[in-house]
Amino acid sequence: MKYVTAKRAGLVSCHACGRVEPRIRSVTPQHCGRCGARLHSRHPDSLMRTWALLIAAALLYIPANLLPVMHTSSLLGSEDDTIMSGVVYFWTSGDWPLAMIVFVASIMVPMLKLSVLALLAVTAQRRSRWRPDQRTTLYRMVERIGRWSMLDVFVITLTVALVRFKSLAVITAGPGAIAFGSVVILTMMASMQFDPRLIWDHVESRSQKPQDLDHD
Ligand SMILES: [Zn+2]
Repeated sequence: MKYVTAKRAGLVSCHACGRVEPRIRSVTPQHCGRCGARLHSRHPDSLMRTWALLIAAALLYIPANLLPVMHTSSLLGSEDDTIMSGVVYFWTSGDWPLAMIVFVASIMVPMLKLSVLALLAVTAQRRSRWRPDQRTTLYRMVERIGRWSMLDVFVITLTVALVRFKSLAVITAGPGAIAFGSVVILTMMASMQFDPRLIWDHVESRSQKPQDLDHD
């Protein structure tokens, strides 16, 4: 099978309006002939930015799980809950659907997204030719999950509202919630910075010689 990218064919597309035009090699940056946006054949510094955001997200994932996300204080005393103790609490109190939602949304999904993005970044960096179709599917999956990432924050908000309504307990968000929110946002930004076309840049028949492989 032979794959030819637009970049290799000397074409560049506009990120803003989608117009495809011939790439002009010059010192001055090229601008779109239709909307005037600056043209890049690949997102500038895509891998470097993806890595920076991914590492930051992975580091914040630790306090997001260790620090309390919820602080409950009532007449009986106060209590701090981490994500995991919240899951255990919901599970033991019979709220297993809620326990499942919190577990999937705040432990499984962020872990999965971080590992998939790291895999995509590593393989793109190593100019891998390994399963480009499947890697593209993984990228699309991460993009699709992205919009559901805030589900957990929503669940916490809902619980806070419910408990406040039902009892005298006062629930406030703990520092873990800020860390968790940051993990979600940073992972989203990382997946936005990753240019999926990098997956295909090195997939071609071996006889073809790459004309240029600079990332600009
Ligand atoms: Zn344009």
